[in-house]
Parts: sequence; structure tokens; C-alpha cells
Amino acid sequence: MRLPGLVAIIFFCAATAQAANNSFALANVRVFNGDRTIPHANVVVRAGRIVAVGPRAAIPAHLKIIDGRGKTLLPGLIDAHVHVGPGAQADALRFGVTTELDMFDLSRNFKAWRAQRTSLRRTAEADTWAAGLGVTVKGGAPLENAPAGLHIPTLDSASDARKFVNARVAEGSDYIKLFIENLSEYRSKKTLPTLSPAEVCAVIAAAHADHRMAIVHTQAEWAAREAIKCGANALAHMIPDQVVGARFIALARRHHIFVETTDDVWAGVSGLDLAQKLARDPRVAPYLSAAQKSTLLATDKKLAPWFFPNVLANTRALHEAGIPIIAGTDSPNPATAHGVALHEELQILVEAGFTPQEALHAATALPAAIFHLGRRGHVAAGYRADLLLVDGDPTRNIADTLSIDRIWMNGYPVNRMPPKT
Ligand SMILES: [Zn+2]
Repeated sequence: MRLPGLVAIIFFCAATAQAANNSFALANVRVFNGDRTIPHANVVVRAGRIVAVGPRAAIPAHLKIIDGRGKTLLPGLIDAHVHVGPGAQADALRFGVTTELDMFDLSRNFKAWRAQRTSLRRTAEADTWAAGLGVTVKGGAPLENAPAGLHIPTLDSASDARKFVNARVAEGSDYIKLFIENLSEYRSKKTLPTLSPAEVCAVIAAAHADHRMAIVHTQAEWAAREAIKCGANALAHMIPDQVVGARFIALARRHHIFVETTDDVWAGVSGLDLAQKLARDPRVAPYLSAAQKSTLLATDKKLAPWFFPNVLANTRALHEAGIPIIAGTDSPNPATAHGVALHEELQILVEAGFTPQEALHAATALPAAIFHLGRRGHVAAGYRADLLLVDGDPTRNIADTLSIDRIWMNGYPVNRMPPKT
């Protein structure tokens, strides 16, 4: 007879604890707010949103207070180039990446992603914006190895572009991804069919007519030029095949493009062991899932060793020219992994001449502004409490982003333990 009452009390207590769980405060913490550093601040979070930030922000009584001395609070990180798949968003979140921008996937789970990113409910996954299906030709990248019998729509001609893009937008694509890829940059005999210049221009025009950005995969300077001349908004990769010249930079500036880096994947293609070192880092190893370990340790066996030096030079040159550059990883390709690879990417940006604050900006406030991601990417009143607290000062030593103390998503603490396999 007493059991139902007891159950009711337990339920009531659990509900109260849950409600209080996404309200807390940090005291005396260094804050990188997405744009700049506030050396000492209090930060107040109520019901999943930041309500106050500043040196004298008052902390309401009865709120749980976390001592931030010696630590730095950052906005949850944004990875601007990934491919989502099972477990991806959970892997991302355990390393402080609270938003992922997918650049091609077949799952096209748009409805669930929209529901999650507009909610402040407790979740174990990063929020997602997505291209979904990209635009390519039959037998073209990235579908050249797709299993026979798997029907994936491809573009047949420039005159189909409007219909093709309308179908993507109707499915839920947040932006349109195109592939210009014949593999010539690998200097191998194998080549692939790819979109013609007329098709590229027609798809970009159709994307813009549907109020979507057109983001173009290219790995070759000639293809990047073609995309920019057709009005592309962005390149999905830093150009690896050659060091670009002043004429290319002038073209990119004139057309106001932005670039997603993915320099980490080019490090892997060049045979560098940055990802393997990352996997062994004691701040990383205990939190890796089996999937993360396996992709980080996968190698491309020096496919194109000239890529990484080119990419460093191009990242530096485009950044110095004022072209917006945002951090992306191309996870889960070989030598990358969801979440953790973005920390390596930040280190590469610093190697390419970014200040640590510029690198952090490229993975927080800048992508949030470019992709109109709403109230995220900043530590400021009114923004979502997607937060990363680290030991040390990554605004001076970028590698300190790996010294993760804790992570919050929608104001709720994130469990960093990977799933057991
Ligand atoms: Zn990609």
C-alpha cells in the first residue's frame, strides 16, 4: 500500500533535481567569449541559458557555484566540416564540440536534428546542421565507391539543377554542397567524372534562388577558381594541391568567399602522425570511443606528401588577406575523429599564423555568424549554455583546449565516458 506514494516521492525528487541541473554559476573564471578574453568574470546560467557574464555579475543565492580560478571558459566548439553517422554527435560532444556542420551524408535525419537544436533538453549529442545529399554526377566523388544497387540521386545536366536543388531543400538541406573532383590533384592515372562548369554555375544559382549557401568541395586550385567565378559562398577545404598566388587571393576577396579548413585531414594524407600523437595524449585516450580510435589511427600512407606544406602556406596567406576561415575537420575521414580532431585543427591554425584567440574565434563566434546558427558560439547573456571549461589558458597556449575540466550542453553537464564496446 505504501509503494505508490514512495514511487511518487522518488519521481518528484528526480524531476526537481533535473530542473535544477541546468542552472549554475562559475566564479572568478577567465572567459573567451567567442571574440575576446575577459580575464576575470562570473558567469550565471539559468535553465540552460547564460543570463549574466562579467567581472561583477551577481550570483543569485542558492545557485551551485563552480570555482573557475586557473581555468578558462569557452563557448562550445563548432566543427564546420564533418560527415555525421551513428555515434558521431555523441563522440563530438565528449570533446566539447557542441555543434557540428555536416557537409554530406546519406542519413538525412533533418527532422530530428532540427528538433534537437531548437530544444534545451538534456542530450548526449552535439547539435547538427546539415547539407544532407550533395550534388555530384553519376560515378563521381564522393559516391565512386558506393555499393552497386544503392540508388542515390545525381545530377544529369545543367537544366536539371533547379529541380535537383529544390528536392534537396524540400528534404531539409540547410545549405547545398557540390563536388568538383576528378582526382587530378593526386597525380595518379585514376580520374573521375565530375560536374561541368555549366552545371556548377547552374547549381549555385539554384541554391541562391532557394536562399541556401553553396559550399563547394574542391582539392585543386583550378576547381576552386571555377567555383568562385560561379558565385560559390565557400570552399569546403583549404586548397592542398598547390600554393595559391596573388591572383587567386584577389579573386577570393572580390567574391567574398569563406573557407572551411580541414587541414588535419591533409596532414593525414601527407603522412604526418599528428592524429596518432593525439590518440596517445593522456588527456584524450581515456575518452575515445572505438570509432574515434579507429579513424584517428587510420592512415592514408603518404598519398600526397606535398599537401600539408601547401595547406599551411595557403591558410596563412588567405588569413593574412582577410578571407574568413573557419575550422573544420572532415571527420570521420582517416587521421580524424569527431570532436577530438577539432582540437588538432586549432593547433594547426596557430602553426599557420593565427593567434590562439583567432583560432578559437574560427571555431566559435565566426562559424555561428556565417551560418546564422542563432544564439550559440558566444559566452554572453541570452546565449545557449553550451560551454567548455578547460584548465590553463588556451588564449595563450592553444593546446590547453585539450585539458578539459568539464562540458555543458544546454546547461547540463556532459558525461565524458565513452560507450563500452
Ligand atoms: Zn568532407
